Amino acid sequence: MRAQPPASHFIDGAPFEDADGAVIESRYPATDEVIARLHAATAATVDRAVAAATRAQKDWAALPGRERGRILRRAADLLRERNRELSVLETLDTGKALQETLVADAASGADCLEYFGGLAASIEGSTVDLGSAFVYTRREPLGVVAAIGAWNYPIQIACWKAAPALAAGNAVIFKPAETTPLSALKLAEILKEAGLPDGVYNVVQGYGDTGRMLVKHPGIAKISLTGESNTGKRVMADAAETLKHVTLELGGKSPLIVFDDANLDNAVGAAMLANFYSTGQICSNGTRVFVQKGAKEAFLERLVERTAKIRLGDPLDEATHLGPLVSHKHREKVLAYLELGKAEGARLMIGGGVPRLQGFESGAWVEPTVFADVTDDMRIAREEIFGPVMAVLDFDTEEEVVTRANDTPFGLAAGVFTADLARAHRVIAQVKAGTTWINTYNLTPVEMPFGGMKQSGLGRENGREALHSYTQVKSVYVELGDVASPY
Ligand code: NDP
Repeated sequence: MRAQPPASHFIDGAPFEDADGAVIESRYPATDEVIARLHAATAATVDRAVAAATRAQKDWAALPGRERGRILRRAADLLRERNRELSVLETLDTGKALQETLVADAASGADCLEYFGGLAASIEGSTVDLGSAFVYTRREPLGVVAAIGAWNYPIQIACWKAAPALAAGNAVIFKPAETTPLSALKLAEILKEAGLPDGVYNVVQGYGDTGRMLVKHPGIAKISLTGESNTGKRVMADAAETLKHVTLELGGKSPLIVFDDANLDNAVGAAMLANFYSTGQICSNGTRVFVQKGAKEAFLERLVERTAKIRLGDPLDEATHLGPLVSHKHREKVLAYLELGKAEGARLMIGGGVPRLQGFESGAWVEPTVFADVTDDMRIAREEIFGPVMAVLDFDTEEEVVTRANDTPFGLAAGVFTADLARAHRVIAQVKAGTTWINTYNLTPVEMPFGGMKQSGLGRENGREALHSYTQVKSVYVELGDVASPY
């Protein structure tokens, strides 16, 4: 299987190669086959991209918002038309099952381009009447935005960052994770075809050091990162040298709280989605499932029964539920946590190892796993695993579970299942997390601001909040009378 792009990078409206950069191999995680070979950007390529973006941004910002929006909406239509082709590419690059990529990746990117395309014409300032003078404000773009992505939702992350940035009149340089370099290049082609002027959206490939070059580059005004919390801290420190704006979407260890009175089938279904979708590689996953003691055994029984029916196998077969993890390197980390969970004394309910799948013996597979009787101090309950590993904890009272749910440095997401609406709102109000759900989990429509509190991040993606974070306010004082001067 090959998915070789015309060149590694996309700069100033065209594919661009730079063979001096370190080699990047993109592998199909289901079989470990190399599907494309690319090169990381050297400093000269990064400079080229920044120069192109800087040139292009001025004219792009000068267009009326509705014209920028029209181009983004056209790109949304193209993404939808090519959804299958893009989904297959995303499955090859990430290993995620096609059943998922067909509905959750390019499709979510298209929603995002459409939404921010629609909002582009509504970016406006305000006026303040001062009698003989007035003040008006302009929401101006920041300039060149560097967007740095994680590998779990490559095209979705590219769109979540590019759409609001472009709608607001910025130019973008996107650096995908080196594990999943391919779909961002397709997005570049589609944006060009939709009418985006050359240089307004660029892609440079690379490892963390290319990301670092972007973060330190004086020509860049803002960094939007999706990645681990430790990467976020390094990026923020580097960005501080030139006082760049930052949006950080980082890791989590989110609580999903199930009270005795919850609809158990819904709660079990949501807990599975919150831990196994994308083979567990979702930042907002509810990986600490707190179940009230009265419901615990029934919950576990149904959970194990349904988990046993999850189909692993050929990711390109639409009947397959779960693909492999993104890479062998990542699988080593997840398998180490499975061993740790057993050693820490958690009760292994199902999974816990590597499945045997004929024809896919070389892939980065791991079984969907449930641990019960997990306690707050276990490392599997404290650290982000980023694999299909659910930790079930139990609790007695509402007050207790809120305290325990908040006992983490993370604060990305949270969910509560209960039939008592007053309790649902009461609990959600007390949970320290930026993105929360009542009686469902992990739905992230583009209209809903998404992001974390505490060490899960800064700023929000999606919703109107995101648009504001790609603009800065200029205040203009307009004098209508004479200048009062003592001189
Ligand atoms: P990493 O933090 O390892 O990498 C994220 C991106 O940053 C990659 O493109 C990486 O490049 C780049 N990078 C690494 N070091 C630096 C640096 N010093 N300066 C600039 N860029 C750098 O995350 P993963 O790719 O492993 O993704 C998994 C993580 O992402 C999980 O913690 C997950 O929770 C989080 N995530 C958060 C989401 C959110 O919205 N809150 C959504 C999805 C994931 P390279 O990969 O080439 O080394």
